[in-house]
Amino acid sequence: MAVDEIGHLLAANRRFAEGRARADEAPPRLGLAVVTCMDARIDTFAALGLQVGEAHVLRNAGGRVTDDVLRSLALSSNVLGVHTVAVVEHTRCGLAGVTDEDLRDQTGASMAFLPIADHEASLREDVAVLAATPFLEPITTIAGLLYDVGTGELSEVVRWTRPS
Ligand code: ZN
Repeated sequence: MAVDEIGHLLAANRRFAEGRARADEAPPRLGLAVVTCMDARIDTFAALGLQVGEAHVLRNAGGRVTDDVLRSLALSSNVLGVHTVAVVEHTRCGLAGVTDEDLRDQTGASMAFLPIADHEASLREDVAVLAATPFLEPITTIAGLLYDVGTGELSEVVRWTRPS
């Protein structure tokens, strides 16, 4: 029998809807946005001690700062009160140690995949891009963090605060 993944989602939702935690306000209560990888091993809310309603969570391959992350953060910061951003990369990431050429061969998609040669360097690069983006001026603190999928531990690589 084929596994029906969507049926699984719908059945699980019926159980969830009855007892769910409520968050009625759209602005994230902690003024926080988290940018992280889509990796299935990362439970973002549990790993960072977050509750529903507290933070925006933006996920993509690698947890890199893409145009779409900038699009979302423009709204987070200017419309929804976000002042702090955590960029979280992780160990054993599928984007680490590969090249754009490798990923283009695997996918047939000729795009920039933003592979990661070195986590510290790419975190510093992405934090610098956010810090230098004029329309993100409401953001005053940006951290680059590395999550170890083996141990569950998070370490801080870089932190930027806006000069006053
Ligand atoms: Zn990853």
